[in-house]
Amino acid sequence: MKFLVYLVILIALVAGLFLFWPKSNKVDQNLTEGIEQAAPTTYTRSLEITEGATYGFLMAQAGVPTTTRQEIFAAAQSVYDLTKIRLGRSLDLVYDLTTDELEQLVYQIDTEERLYVSLNSTTTASSTEPVWSAAVKSIPYEIKIKTVAGTIETSMYESALAQNIDERAVIGFADAFQWTIDFAWEVRQGDTYKFIYEERYLDGEYIMPGQILAGKFVNAGKDLYAFYYQETAENFGYFDEAGNSAERTFLKAPLAFKYITSGFTTGSRYIAAFNIATGHRAIDYAATFGTPVRAVGDGTVIFAGWDGSYGYKISVRHNATYTTNYAHLSKFAIKSGQKVSQGQTIGYVGSTGLSTGPHLHYELVKNGTKINPLTEVFPPKEGIKEENKPAYLAVTKDLKEKLDN
Ligand SMILES: [Zn+2]
Repeated sequence: MKFLVYLVILIALVAGLFLFWPKSNKVDQNLTEGIEQAAPTTYTRSLEITEGATYGFLMAQAGVPTTTRQEIFAAAQSVYDLTKIRLGRSLDLVYDLTTDELEQLVYQIDTEERLYVSLNSTTTASSTEPVWSAAVKSIPYEIKIKTVAGTIETSMYESALAQNIDERAVIGFADAFQWTIDFAWEVRQGDTYKFIYEERYLDGEYIMPGQILAGKFVNAGKDLYAFYYQETAENFGYFDEAGNSAERTFLKAPLAFKYITSGFTTGSRYIAAFNIATGHRAIDYAATFGTPVRAVGDGTVIFAGWDGSYGYKISVRHNATYTTNYAHLSKFAIKSGQKVSQGQTIGYVGSTGLSTGPHLHYELVKNGTKINPLTEVFPPKEGIKEENKPAYLAVTKDLKEKLDN
């Protein structure tokens, strides 16, 4: 009996979908699939959002009547605030080719979503007023899967760029290994990498890289893997070939890969390794002035101020065991006492205190003793549950084969 009730509800839902689907999608199709259609029924005017230009200003300049402007703005309000439009993007106005009537406004909110405000009808049962309705939808990228590989001569970054791999894909790949490899210190000549990622296209034109699906990095002869997987709504991210999380409680480096371009340059005097003999119980990262410094793990800021030869320094207490220190900063992004999360920007690289050039002096303190952050092994985050491992391994098996060949 219960089954019958569910069936009736399902049929009603499907019927409802068919009733409303074509109507709400009609105008979109003209915009997104216009190129494939034999005879376009619309044309688009793009209003570029220049410095200081507001929604009202741009629409007025395009000759859109005040009432229409206000109706579109009001309709959008429930899903997107048009006062928040960003410099460099555009408001796209879609017009009917024969009547020159404005039918739709399209605004790309970010790399994932677009706002559509569409004219549904000019006559309804109760009035003849135009009815605008708004929706935010995912951008319908076409996805192509790409595999790239290379060997490192000087740095990961230079090797990948020499092969014309999209810089954003390289950053995405390196970020998948940000818990296991310090790309400034641990990468060796002869290390190899291979990764599989999504490329996003619109109307046949390459737009940007999407998700990094799988990657392999052979570092000093050791195979390291990262597979992107969503186990549950809460547990997703990168996992290794056995289903352990590839993410750890501490990041390997306090500077993001995109700011580490030096490879294994030793020419700069500001790069110094952890060395007990010389008393340098820290790692120095050469970086340009103002480079964001990130907290390597969740914690609480216990100090943010001037500390003699360290200059402007931040100390983050992560738990009863570990504290990290970040010195010679130019500026703080946090206050003492504040809670911070892993990867959060806490300050900016500078040259304050006893320092003759911009660099970050990074210390890891374990039970009161400064230790080498590169050799410390931190616990992984939550892995794939035993009962989900067969499904995980089934999905990643082919990817791993591709990475190994
Ligand atoms: Zn130092």
